[in-house]
Amino acid sequence: MNATHQKTSKGTIEVICGSMFSGKTEELLRRIHRCVLAHLRVELFKPDTDQRYKPDAVVSHMGRELPCQSVSSSSALTLLASAADVVAIDEAQFFDLELVSVCQNLANAGKRVIIAGLDMDSNAQPFGPIPQLMAVADQVSKVQAICANCGDLAYVSYRISKSDSLVYLGEKKEYKPLCRSCYFSISDAQ
Ligand SMILES: [Zn+2]
Repeated sequence: MNATHQKTSKGTIEVICGSMFSGKTEELLRRIHRCVLAHLRVELFKPDTDQRYKPDAVVSHMGRELPCQSVSSSSALTLLASAADVVAIDEAQFFDLELVSVCQNLANAGKRVIIAGLDMDSNAQPFGPIPQLMAVADQVSKVQAICANCGDLAYVSYRISKSDSLVYLGEKKEYKPLCRSCYFSISDAQ
């Protein structure tokens, strides 16, 4: 039998995605907390580009915090996650595209893989490996922030300062969540 696909496996891939300030990390940490209560072995990872708060912790906007490992590439996850029942990944949009096959192999080996990340960049374009991860996931949860302009449900992270760059971490005050209508009316006005 292929070592990466056991018949008894109950592996799954879950994706939690949305704009900035949509509560993705909070939802990820909520799911992890329930796994901990169930005495499952959880390993939490984030890309080492994310140094906003602490290199060794994932912190939500609500202040919830859990220890994690920062890794430089998705290939490092396979070994580091080998003993885990549950593999959780935050800010997954910053990983390389190999993250898709890494997550599939982890799920095929019976692990529950939970991924949180931005679905789109500030130009409203699909971000990094998230689109492919959504395609191969068993479950996708889109969470939504509130539009900073009108209070409707937001769909994208709008970059306040004019730049063509993608979303950069540590600059969250430079972004605000906007609904589709406000996003295009503000973009068109510029
Ligand atoms: Zn709006």
